Amino acid sequence: MSPSLHSTLDVLDVIIIGSGIGGLVTATQLAAKGAEVLVLERYLIPGGSSGYFERQGYKFDVGASMIFGFGAQGTTNLLTRALNTVKVSQETIIDPVQVHYHLPNKLDLKVERVYEKFLQNLIAYFPHEEAGIRRFYDECWKVFHCLNSIELLSLEERGYLLRTFLQHPLACLGLVKYLPQNVGDVARRYIKDQELLKFIDIECYSWSVVSADLTPMINAGMVFSDRHYGGVNYPKGGVGTIAQKLVEGLEKAGGKIQYQARVTKILTEQGKAVGVQLANGKVYRGKRIVSNATQWDTFTKLLPGDKIPNNEKKWQQSYKKSPSFLSLHMGVEAAVLPDGTECHHIILEDWQQMTAPGGTLFVSIPTLLDPDLAPKGYHIIHAFTPDWIDNWQGLSASEYEAKKEAAAGEVIDRLEKIFPGLDAGLDYLEVGTPRTHQRFLGREDGTYGPIPRRKLRGLLGMPFNRTAIPGLYCVGDSTFPGQGLNAVAFSGFACAHRIAIDLGF
Ligand SMILES: Cc1cc2nc3c(=O)[nH]c(=O)nc-3n(C[C@H](O)[C@H](O)[C@H](O)COP(=O)(O)OP(=O)(O)OC[C@H]3O[C@@H](n4cnc5c(N)ncnc54)[C@H](O)[C@@H]3O)c2cc1C
Repeated sequence: MSPSLHSTLDVLDVIIIGSGIGGLVTATQLAAKGAEVLVLERYLIPGGSSGYFERQGYKFDVGASMIFGFGAQGTTNLLTRALNTVKVSQETIIDPVQVHYHLPNKLDLKVERVYEKFLQNLIAYFPHEEAGIRRFYDECWKVFHCLNSIELLSLEERGYLLRTFLQHPLACLGLVKYLPQNVGDVARRYIKDQELLKFIDIECYSWSVVSADLTPMINAGMVFSDRHYGGVNYPKGGVGTIAQKLVEGLEKAGGKIQYQARVTKILTEQGKAVGVQLANGKVYRGKRIVSNATQWDTFTKLLPGDKIPNNEKKWQQSYKKSPSFLSLHMGVEAAVLPDGTECHHIILEDWQQMTAPGGTLFVSIPTLLDPDLAPKGYHIIHAFTPDWIDNWQGLSASEYEAKKEAAAGEVIDRLEKIFPGLDAGLDYLEVGTPRTHQRFLGREDGTYGPIPRRKLRGLLGMPFNRTAIPGLYCVGDSTFPGQGLNAVAFSGFACAHRIAIDLGF
């Protein structure tokens, strides 16, 4: 029987499916404006890919740990701003080096927080390209300065666009110029050295999971500059505290959140989204429905197949799911880490393998910044590498365990080269596969998010928050401007802004 929507049920202003950072920023912004907001989260805690789990005295970040958006000034510090809106704050710890690269041909390089130091490190490897290096990264700063001078809200709102254009015409024209551009084209304008271009590729790949040719210039402008401006700052208490603080602020502002509340259907009437149904059959009605699930989960699972709008089908012809990850969450004896070890590392032995499953290895050691996340005398190492869910399907329980053990062994062997004695110093190990990511993060195939199928025109193809279904909005990394906590916070600000206008707040 199809669920009946009783007129006696209260109609909330906004129902948000999912409490990732995108969903929570939307929720808090709207609650702060006085909207009646309900967040429905399928899991036990908020945060999604920026959540955490605890084992034997260790507090592990499930995913994100290189956090942008906690700067003190400008307009691009969206996490700081989101928390401020609902009168909560987050202590953060400065990370002096964004990442330490361990790359082929002994390219061993630290991206220092101080811009000039980073440039000097890179120029030391490519002295013949000094001018090109400076011109390329300076061009990224141009993008950043444009973004950082305007209030980042909904590009779907004409009044805001007009106001912003009148106040900051040059910044707006700059952004219009960069919107359709990709990093690869800009980099090749200034840089000829093939090895250096490969470095630019991995600079992009490390957060966009595609090469420079497929990475939008707008996103690169943000990441390559903000790491030296607002910097990378780790939240004291672990990444999971960001979502917890947002929930605290949401509730202070009068909003509500329910956990273990899995939405199974977005309900429509005469083509308009009017409510949601939970797995337990409960129905909620809302004037506006927001999905923080991925595009694939929203349009193929929460809506019946015949309701997928044509523009979403078309979008899937341009974008596909990125791979998920194989993740090792380790507790290790502190003696394993040499003095001066940085928090984030990227390891690649062969450029040909950069985008291959098991190719690039990402490493985070958050206890170097916040020792309280592990028992005294121990550190957390989170090592992860892209992998497809298909590699992990159709296995018996024992085959699955054996494959996990073998894959973990390979990762540990690679880490041993940088941290000798790691294997012997292991105190705790938990291995997550793409299946784990799918199950616990509620993301189809455990995907990290959408990536272009081919070279597209920069960010122009990424959808904004409104969908072709009236009353239904999307927020999070399937929407403009893509993956990363600060990026989904941007999407949350934009979504809340658009809904606030639509509801007259
Ligand atoms: C291993 C890894 C490392 C990363 N590293 C970084 C990093 O260092 N820095 C960085 O900035 N970013 C990083 N990211 C990316 C970043 O974590 C994500 O882009 C971001 O957290 C996504 O936020 P979101 O709001 O789109 O949604 P998500 O985090 O996916 O949250 C969506 C929420 O919706 C819930 N949900 C889904 N479907 C339903 C349903 N039907 N009913 C109810 N609830 C539902 C989910 O349970 C989840 O809580 C990393 C990601 C991973 C996986």
